[in-house]
Amino acid sequence: MKRVYNFNAGPAALPFAVLQRAQEEFLNFKDSGMALMELSHRSKEYDQVHEKAISDLKELYHIPDDYEVLFLQGGASLQFAMIPMNFLPENKIANYSLTGTWSEKALAEAEKFGKTAIISSSKESKYNHIPDSSELIPTDDAAYVHITSNNTIYGTQWSDYPDLGNIPLIADMSSDILSKEIDIRKFDMIYAGAQKNLGPSGVTVVILKKDLLKNIPSEIPTLLNYQTHVKNNSLYNTPPTFSIYILSLVLDWVREQGGVSAIERINNEKAELLYNCIDQSNGFYKAHAQVGSRSKMNVTFTLPTEQLTKDFLAQSKELGFVGLGGHRSIGGCRASIYNAVPLESCVALVNFMKDFRYRN
Ligand SMILES: *Cc1c(COP(=O)(O)O)cnc(C)c1O
Repeated sequence: MKRVYNFNAGPAALPFAVLQRAQEEFLNFKDSGMALMELSHRSKEYDQVHEKAISDLKELYHIPDDYEVLFLQGGASLQFAMIPMNFLPENKIANYSLTGTWSEKALAEAEKFGKTAIISSSKESKYNHIPDSSELIPTDDAAYVHITSNNTIYGTQWSDYPDLGNIPLIADMSSDILSKEIDIRKFDMIYAGAQKNLGPSGVTVVILKKDLLKNIPSEIPTLLNYQTHVKNNSLYNTPPTFSIYILSLVLDWVREQGGVSAIERINNEKAELLYNCIDQSNGFYKAHAQVGSRSKMNVTFTLPTEQLTKDFLAQSKELGFVGLGGHRSIGGCRASIYNAVPLESCVALVNFMKDFRYRN
């Protein structure tokens, strides 16, 4: 079997070693005589997987003790609604920085629950940059400030995060969680659908500062209240056991690579390869994102004409490159180079890009 060069935006590439290990353990998990999927979520075997995934994530990402790690369902998209339901009281204003489609969607959910304000935006320039952190000035009575740390569709990424004093900072990190070292303390909540950097779809990771749990209204439906999941260690109801298991294997793999700092070094190298190729193409390839805002996870670029874009995608597909088409909302091309995308895939892509340019 030949593995493709997988540049899918999400669900995305998983480490091959993780898939192999899952295969080895698939039919008979830890000599239980069952597949992991067949185990009770209250069993000792599953409990070990669950606990290990939480403690490994805490350790690898240096999550302090006053933060909770939750495994929820409903994707990052359900967090768009849960955040205002839990953290937006009537007398306060939810503040949003708009840097792409996902922040627009997050804002749209908050609008259903209370007062909102857009405190910075790059919409006017087709979301090709991240507004300066210094432009991010919260309104009076801000309940929280919400940012999208990496904009999967437009290919932009925050490089430094704002310091907001007492106002909680909440970040959708779906497409760059665990891709680089960060100071968790800058955030009051981080959330991410797992299917980009952490594992398969079906589980959403929420990292939540305990302080934030104090004023949650009690009338929220049980399953949509963060308190429920904190009190029950994400086992109030049946969690997505298989997704959490694969997530735990991905965390093992991150550790084997040397941890998040080692992953970050490789990610920098991968992104540099691609952006250098774009910048040194005499304008044949153009990056969508401005220098300084460029994402190290989603590299978005255009070619001179629609026809060349079509040819590029068709020819790359024949050579085993997958997922290079840009999102339908911006067109062009996009290479998603999450943690599990190996350096070799990026080298192969750059070689193809150079070759394609010389031929055209
Ligand atoms: C993919 C993505 C989402 C949507 O995630 P779901 O888990 O499908 O709801 C939200 N935000 C960002 C930044 C994303 O990349």
